Amino acid sequence: MVFDSDPLIVATRRGLYCPQGDFYIDPWRPVQTALITHGHGDHLRQGNARYILARPGLGIARARLPGNHDLLAVDYGTRHTLGSTTVSLHPAGHILGSAQIRIEHGGEVWVVSGDYKRQPDPTCEPFEPLRADVFVSEATFALPQYRWPPVGQVVQEILHWWRANRERGVASMLFCYALGKAQRLLAELAALTSEPVHVHGAMTTLIEVYRAAGVPMVATIPVPRPSRTQYRGELILAPPRARGFGAISSGFCSGWMCAADGPHRLSCDRGFVLSDHADWPDLVTTCEQTSARRIRLTHGHPDALIEHLGTRGIEARAL
Ligand SMILES: [Zn+2]
Ligand SMILES: [Zn+2]
Repeated sequence: MVFDSDPLIVATRRGLYCPQGDFYIDPWRPVQTALITHGHGDHLRQGNARYILARPGLGIARARLPGNHDLLAVDYGTRHTLGSTTVSLHPAGHILGSAQIRIEHGGEVWVVSGDYKRQPDPTCEPFEPLRADVFVSEATFALPQYRWPPVGQVVQEILHWWRANRERGVASMLFCYALGKAQRLLAELAALTSEPVHVHGAMTTLIEVYRAAGVPMVATIPVPRPSRTQYRGELILAPPRARGFGAISSGFCSGWMCAADGPHRLSCDRGFVLSDHADWPDLVTTCEQTSARRIRLTHGHPDALIEHLGTRGIEARAL
């Protein structure tokens, strides 16, 4: 096995670490300095002494970290010195405030993608292509079968499903993640309808964070206590494990719905393929666009991508 000499990022027990800058990226355990790519729970955790994150993600971090925390919000693209490195954050297009982390040291540039996507998303700044010597990419959906349909088509499918359910007199319950996906759906729907959408009580705080950040979304009505008949004909957004709305049609919004048995596996009636991650073609394109000769992959099962990039002369491996 070949190792990078003087790597700018190494995998440790606490998470990805930059020795030259003495900081961690999205650490799993408490550290002194944590650079945070975005606010999802597997990336933003409690207990770090100092957090550095992109300014548009500040409201999310405040909502998700109870108590007082040392949060340093930085603007996209602004260069900061950490140890002997120069660090900057750049839009990743994943959710509001999501960032790629660019690290420069001794003439070498590493970019850590965090979670990212290339599809348009009205709730956040689009992914910024960066050049890198080494690109550390997520690989959540790194199989050729994962190809996202156009967003507009998926949102139209959701709208048709909602209207058909209304004609049958049932509620439409759409399961999606409370951070990112819910707000993206509400923003996409705003372009097509002025009807309000009911939202599960667990989603309201983060929806308000997005509204405060100026993201235009349809009007929402919080649903604290679901009942069997009250929501006939309405659309309700709820986090994946919410239940108890009685006679409904249920849908699920996720990249995993690309698989034929997706709706069955997540026990719902309809699957809608909408993901905040890059699909296979976008993973390949993005890795190539960075011009990196070395790719390091995190998340998912990266073997197929490692092999595919290898055929294009790019040395890739799991980090
Ligand atoms: Zn994420
Ligand atoms: Zn993630």
